[in-house]
Amino acid sequence: MIFVHWLLNFPFLFRIVDMTKGYDMKIYFDMDGVLADFDSMVPNSANLNHPSESLTPELRAAKKRFWQDIEKNKNFWRDIPVITGTNQMLSTFQKYGELFVLSKAPGANKFIGGATYAEFVASEKRQWVLKHLGHFFDDAHIIICNAPKGAAMNPTQNDILVDDRPENIQEWESHGGRGILFTKSTTPKQMIQQITKQR
Ligand SMILES: [Mg+2]
Repeated sequence: MIFVHWLLNFPFLFRIVDMTKGYDMKIYFDMDGVLADFDSMVPNSANLNHPSESLTPELRAAKKRFWQDIEKNKNFWRDIPVITGTNQMLSTFQKYGELFVLSKAPGANKFIGGATYAEFVASEKRQWVLKHLGHFFDDAHIIICNAPKGAAMNPTQNDILVDDRPENIQEWESHGGRGILFTKSTTPKQMIQQITKQR
């Protein structure tokens, strides 16, 4: 009883216990650029990864061609390689919570095939995860959303997003979640530190 009373006076100790255990956390991994090496399939895509309205007419045309070239290659999505270090990263994160894939499907308006092709992409992404990372994610742990991730998931402080785009992290955090910015050179340990420091 004295011990409980003592603990109640030091709430931060509950946080340390919680942080070490961490099983209450749900950890969501972006797919392209975090698990799947999308950029290795298409050179120079970074320049085009902006809303079309903000691009010059030339870049806008290039962006259209970029997506249509992908659409022409039926095997594009299934051929994307796994990013080196993915298995090690997921094994590390597994100790801290329940793992999910959270990928935003590209908008149907990008494609000649419209919604039908967008559905094909979502299905290909799901198959990709099951094929390459099925030992970490079953079908129920793969989420392909159409809205921005924070708006789609309505996260809490126990929901962690690992994403390679700062704007996605920002959007996630603005909806109440916590984010980890992924880069290929960041070790899993450094990634974990990004969230344990925030507690
Ligand atoms: Mg990404």
